[in-house]
Amino acid sequence: MQDLVLIGGGHAHVHVLKQLRERPLKDGRVTLISRDIETPYSGMIPGFVAGRYGFAECHIDLARLCARSGVRLIHAEATGIDRAQRQVLLKDQPSVTYDLLSIDVGSAPNVGGIAGAEQWAIPVKPIAELGRRWLEFSERMKSWRGPLNVMVIGGGAGGVELALAIDHRLRAIATAASLQVTLATKDQILAAQAEAARRKLRAIFQRRGIRLLENAGAERIERGSVKLADGQWQQADAVFVVTEASAAPWFADTGLPLDEKGFLAVDDTLASTADPRIFAAGDCATVLAHRRPKAGVFAVRQGPPLADNLRRVLGGERPRPFVPQSRYLSILGTGDGNAVATRGDWAIEGRWVWWWKDHIDRKWMRMYR
Ligand SMILES: Cc1cc2nc3c(=O)[nH]c(=O)nc-3n(C[C@H](O)[C@H](O)[C@H](O)COP(=O)(O)OP(=O)(O)OC[C@H]3O[C@@H](n4cnc5c(N)ncnc54)[C@H](O)[C@@H]3O)c2cc1C
Repeated sequence: MQDLVLIGGGHAHVHVLKQLRERPLKDGRVTLISRDIETPYSGMIPGFVAGRYGFAECHIDLARLCARSGVRLIHAEATGIDRAQRQVLLKDQPSVTYDLLSIDVGSAPNVGGIAGAEQWAIPVKPIAELGRRWLEFSERMKSWRGPLNVMVIGGGAGGVELALAIDHRLRAIATAASLQVTLATKDQILAAQAEAARRKLRAIFQRRGIRLLENAGAERIERGSVKLADGQWQQADAVFVVTEASAAPWFADTGLPLDEKGFLAVDDTLASTADPRIFAAGDCATVLAHRRPKAGVFAVRQGPPLADNLRRVLGGERPRPFVPQSRYLSILGTGDGNAVATRGDWAIEGRWVWWWKDHIDRKWMRMYR
């Protein structure tokens, strides 16, 4: 009997669990180690912040999925791997032995360059934590009176969607507040996307009265204010940091090859470039031959090839290479029931785009319930 151990209930691993439910392993035991039992679907989190989805609609219950898939669930945080003993080290719990290991633990925003962020910002990752923190925060805002300055730091897709979602929700619930949402980013917004998408989003920000500060990286956060690269202090009663993804620090102690930013280096089968018994997918891994942005859409796409390759290796076969698409559709919700879709160098906007996104996301969630 071989032991397959999965660390993290990220987007790729929920597909592995679903495949196990449909086709159980003939001779193997599967264990999922997860820090969170309710794992969020990132595509719907901005919609949750905007008040368009309830908590249960955009979170997958890993306990239920594991029970249905015949998978043992250990509610714990992995802190390292002892590769010589083939063991996963856990915080405050005994280690777990593996024959084959797969890692899908996501990433965290890089707050290293922003002094005071750990103390004063509301973290958006773990994304599971954001859901709970947002509910607490929005509850407090209902009774807020007078000026309310909210700043989102980071102009990638996550930051842009979050700023629009926060603005929409707070205008609906913080009715006694005089709200100003600001997005500050160190370069231009949506740097990885088409100029057409940037133009549309800038126009939407202007129309909605959301301040956009481009080429304005944050340097320091203190209680009630943020210092930007030009030396100016901006008032901020609440700050959300959605900067570029960074890797879990414990990867550095595994002895596994990492990319230049500390993410696990994997080949095109999703296996570690140095250890064929360890696979990794989602934000925490970098496929050296096919580098893509750290986005949920790629973690989702890696689910089926990861599930197949884990099964092949357990059966003594060679894993198969997987080539992710290079052009991809990105749909950004604007919080108010509209969305902008962008692919390659085009971008379109409309209410029907939101319905389309909503349909895709709900369909994905239904598969894992
Ligand atoms: C505000 C915001 C909005 C976003 N919107 C979008 C979007 O619309 N579309 C999109 O494609 N991307 C979006 N992203 C990016 C997206 O969140 C990530 O790319 C995606 O979540 C990565 O998926 P993953 O499977 O790698 O990991 P995750 O979804 O982060 O899942 C990781 C899992 O591992 C568990 N875990 C973590 N560490 C450990 C540990 N040490 N031990 C055990 N378990 C652990 C966690 O509990 C979690 O269940 C957004 C990000 C943010 C911050």
